[in-house]
Amino acid sequence: MDASIIERIEKIVGKDGYSVSIADRYTYGFDASIFHNTPDIVIQPKSTEEVSEIMKIANENLIPIVPRGAGTGLCGSAVPIKGGIVLDMSKMNKVIEVSVGDLWVDVQAGCIYNALNAELAKYGFFFPCSPGSAEAATIGGMVAANASGMKAVKYGATRDFVLGLTFVKADGEIVRAGTKTIKDSSGYQLARLLCGSEGTLGVITEITLMLTTKPKTSASLLASFKTVYDAGRCVSAIMAHPLIPASCELMDKVSINAVNKSQGNPLPDCEALIILEADGEPEQVDRDLKTMEEIAKSIGALTVTPTYDKKQIAAWTSARKSVMTSLSQLKPGFTSVSLADDMAVPISKIPDAVTAYQQISDKYRVTVATYGHAADGNLHTKMLLDPLDKDEWDRGVAAVTEIFDKTIELGGTVTGEHGVGISKALDFQKERASVLSSIRAIKKAMDPNNILNPGKLEQWEGPILRNLRYPCKEYM
Ligand SMILES: Cc1cc2nc3c(=O)[nH]c(=O)nc-3n(C[C@H](O)[C@H](O)[C@H](O)COP(=O)(O)OP(=O)(O)OC[C@H]3O[C@@H](n4cnc5c(N)ncnc54)[C@H](O)[C@@H]3O)c2cc1C
Repeated sequence: MDASIIERIEKIVGKDGYSVSIADRYTYGFDASIFHNTPDIVIQPKSTEEVSEIMKIANENLIPIVPRGAGTGLCGSAVPIKGGIVLDMSKMNKVIEVSVGDLWVDVQAGCIYNALNAELAKYGFFFPCSPGSAEAATIGGMVAANASGMKAVKYGATRDFVLGLTFVKADGEIVRAGTKTIKDSSGYQLARLLCGSEGTLGVITEITLMLTTKPKTSASLLASFKTVYDAGRCVSAIMAHPLIPASCELMDKVSINAVNKSQGNPLPDCEALIILEADGEPEQVDRDLKTMEEIAKSIGALTVTPTYDKKQIAAWTSARKSVMTSLSQLKPGFTSVSLADDMAVPISKIPDAVTAYQQISDKYRVTVATYGHAADGNLHTKMLLDPLDKDEWDRGVAAVTEIFDKTIELGGTVTGEHGVGISKALDFQKERASVLSSIRAIKKAMDPNNILNPGKLEQWEGPILRNLRYPCKEYM
């Protein structure tokens, strides 16, 4: 990067506020996806005003700029595929103000999910989206990805809590969108537009989130099944009862085996299982747990284990959260990769989707673990492959294309919570063909010089497999 530009950046953020060292730049070329590319500079702003000044420099000099929270994204959305600036928001990490009476909290974008909830717990509230990455993910990253997690079925996704936000446009203009009121019908909902924008429309610096009260108590139930189809049927039957669980995690045989092998058998040995959670007032939780038990038995569950024991619940939750890492330990030299990792289908289509994903993995001879937040229709398929073998990648991508096609055919979407980034860009373009021209028009209006996270989503061209983080020479 030109020395005069670095000099200007240093004047804004100080000597400690940026790095051009190769070690830092290389490290910031990763997120939690399969991709990598080294940026030219990493900048850590401390205020909205500093972000604004940096944006002016980037816009003037046509330098790509990629906002970054904690880099836990799984689809490459924070990988600086065109080089340029990585804008690390981790120094803007404060809870600014909690207004209990008005039901909102103001946070800086780099505030970590668990840190926010630790603060809200003091007042009896919580922000319930619960991503698996809660220890690290930032609220800005969650808004930009419209992230959610285990509790979305009952409480909703990040988008549903955003009352307003401050963001910086590509030209450096600071915009305050939305309100601090629970209701707002004042024209275009610009704050909502930034939800799921993946750093392509502006840099979010502050967010106002709506508060939700913490439930008094909770309990869980684990049911095991003869087939993954039955597990899926049980999820649909519970929802149609109607009963909305606080969470509902489904795991197939591959996921269960992987976890049992690496974590010392915390789960029953079966073809498929679901772990359900009920929360709320004690009497309600009791009633829901009984209803869930009856429904699971009526579907033919092999075992049904309800519990209030916090240790048991924590062990199941931890087992479920360890699928991704456990999978990587299943076969020496193989690793679990995120290609088709968070499709969502209408809830009633869960049995069809999980069955189809298994058939597709058999057809392409790839090991696929299917698991996820099934009650909101959101399923993960992590693929186990040898990342140095081109043939493995080729079969993996062929399987993924078919998984996405099946998902769209069932009326679903290629991404329910992680976002599009790179890995889902081509299939997103297929799925959302009818809105692509509108998306391009919005992007052009907000970022005419195309400096904000360029080359992703609707702009991705060519095959998905390039810039892999693994030394598979054909795809590096
Ligand atoms: C183990 C593990 C479990 C996970 N479980 C879940 C889960 O259950 N549910 C789920 O939804 N996701 C999950 N994820 C994915 C990921 O954690 C979420 O997408 C999360 O929201 C990313 O937050 P982040 O701060 O790491 O953002 P990053 O990965 O740094 O960035 C994500 C996107 O947001 C943009 N961005 C970041 N900050 C800003 C900002 N301030 N302004 C504008 N754009 C910005 C980036 O440019 C990028 O496009 C998981 C990831 C891992 C590694």
